[in-house]
Amino acid sequence: MSTGDERNGRHYDVVVVGAGMGGIYAIHRFRSQGLSVLGIEGAPDVGGVWYHNAYPGARVDIESANYCYFFDPELYREWSWTERYAAQPEILAYLRHVADRYEVRPHIAFEQWVNGAQWDPESNRYHVTTDAGLAVTAQFLVMTSGQLSKARDPDFPGLADFRGEWFQTSHWPHEPVQLAGRRVGVIGTGSSGVQTITAVAKEAAHLHVFQRTPNYSVPAYNRPADQRKYARLASKVEEVYREIMQTPGGLILPPGRGSSKDYTAEQIQQMLEERWAFGGQSLLSLFTDQGIDPEVNEVVAEFVRTKVRDTVRDPETAERLVPDAYPIGVRRLCIDTGYYETFNRDNVTLVDLREEPIERLVPQGIRLASGREIELDVVIFALGFEAFTGALDGADIRNEEGRRPSDNWTRGPRTFLGLTTTGFPNLFLVTGPASPSVLANMNVANVQHLDFVADLVAHMRERGYERVEPTVEAQDEWTEHVASIAEPMLRRKVDNYMVHVNRDDDSRVFIPYPGGFGDYVTRCQAVVDDGYAGFDFK
Ligand code: NAP
Repeated sequence: MSTGDERNGRHYDVVVVGAGMGGIYAIHRFRSQGLSVLGIEGAPDVGGVWYHNAYPGARVDIESANYCYFFDPELYREWSWTERYAAQPEILAYLRHVADRYEVRPHIAFEQWVNGAQWDPESNRYHVTTDAGLAVTAQFLVMTSGQLSKARDPDFPGLADFRGEWFQTSHWPHEPVQLAGRRVGVIGTGSSGVQTITAVAKEAAHLHVFQRTPNYSVPAYNRPADQRKYARLASKVEEVYREIMQTPGGLILPPGRGSSKDYTAEQIQQMLEERWAFGGQSLLSLFTDQGIDPEVNEVVAEFVRTKVRDTVRDPETAERLVPDAYPIGVRRLCIDTGYYETFNRDNVTLVDLREEPIERLVPQGIRLASGREIELDVVIFALGFEAFTGALDGADIRNEEGRRPSDNWTRGPRTFLGLTTTGFPNLFLVTGPASPSVLANMNVANVQHLDFVADLVAHMRERGYERVEPTVEAQDEWTEHVASIAEPMLRRKVDNYMVHVNRDDDSRVFIPYPGGFGDYVTRCQAVVDDGYAGFDFK
């Protein structure tokens, strides 16, 4: 009960919302510059999405040697990853280790969700409340609540009638879930679904995969971590970090090969094979024109389609799995460990929802519009997230006019650097809309943002400023800048969680910053060097 909580009624310099990868570092960073900090976290533990997404097969899709903290070389050196792409339990163990090592936990109020944050212009404070009754004030409100953290909940008719068990990948229980020997259905084939399907197929008596849109998936080639490579990186962490900060995705990948126009068709196929053999996201950064020129994109897409047809033995199943609905790379590429091979198993059946949509859940399973019923003991929903605004709206942040940030974003988010938005003083949106966000290595992006914010706060303290917000001009300029980079990109033209579509005039706003992480870092530095140009201090 928070009413007896000694923190009740206290004032903090900073309230940090969410104790995942970003929140852990935020608490450490702000505390190390002498600020009083309270973290507020809904889960009973640190970890954020890596706490909640404990579904079978969950693992990172960026190499672990890159998907970790670089801020302390000692921390980097003392941790050694067991796999090239660490699985969720190992990432959670790492985040717990970091939280303990930097004594972050005592500064977190766990098991409560922020349900209100009202800006008070008189005192220059947010009044922050939680669903457990905690009420505190804070000069700065830092949202490390994630862009892909508020789940899209299932709303299928008949769900309450279903007699079996159902789960969401994004809220997977921390108690054992029995899948062995049971008839399981997975709905959703994005990154979460692909990983779940591959793992569950090995356990379930039978698995039905309910696919609406076939996605592109590329092998991870996960394997035990190369400890010699890791030791090499660890011996020069600072250098590696500087290099990462200049890369387009906040991670080290094989270098791009420029325009596809410089190569013959045979050379292109050869390069695609090399990328396929390397695995992971590297296929998307091969040519500079593959994200812009539909014909070039089609060559890369067709290369993957051929791999699907070569892998899946049943030709009809293969055709249903072939990703034909959109160009490759416009949605997040799925990275897998034997996904297409899973459909060669006798205990796996693909249900194409484009042919037979789900009508409803029934007590014994799922009824399709065709009238066919599939009997299931367990249904797993991997339906994705209310991206970018879900967690923000959940915290119900209000400015002095009683508006929430998303009330001002009805035609697409508007921010300065993806970090701040006009009308909301002292509010920082870590990895927010119009920052590289989901296009970058989130761990590195979090730290870069939080260093920027912490330095900004220090700048304010030195000069006696109490509030900061971006100017309307800076926000307009940034929003237009992001739009101009996104304009020629294929990824802007296809509906997915990275695009805000205004249905009345079909105008489309691409949400993350698509100019590359390295470019973003340079622009942030230019803002600092220019005396925090674009910010209005009071
Ligand atoms: P997602 O990519 O949005 O995929 C959601 C899936 O659910 C899609 O296949 C979607 O089909 C389907 N779906 C949604 N509503 C449905 C309905 N009513 N009926 C049938 N199908 C429905 O979500 P996600 O897989 O959770 O991934 C989201 C992001 O999280 C990823 O892009 C990635 O950035 C991150 N992530 C990363 C990892 C990793 O690091 N390995 C793992 C998981 C997630 P449609 O396509 O037809 O809408």
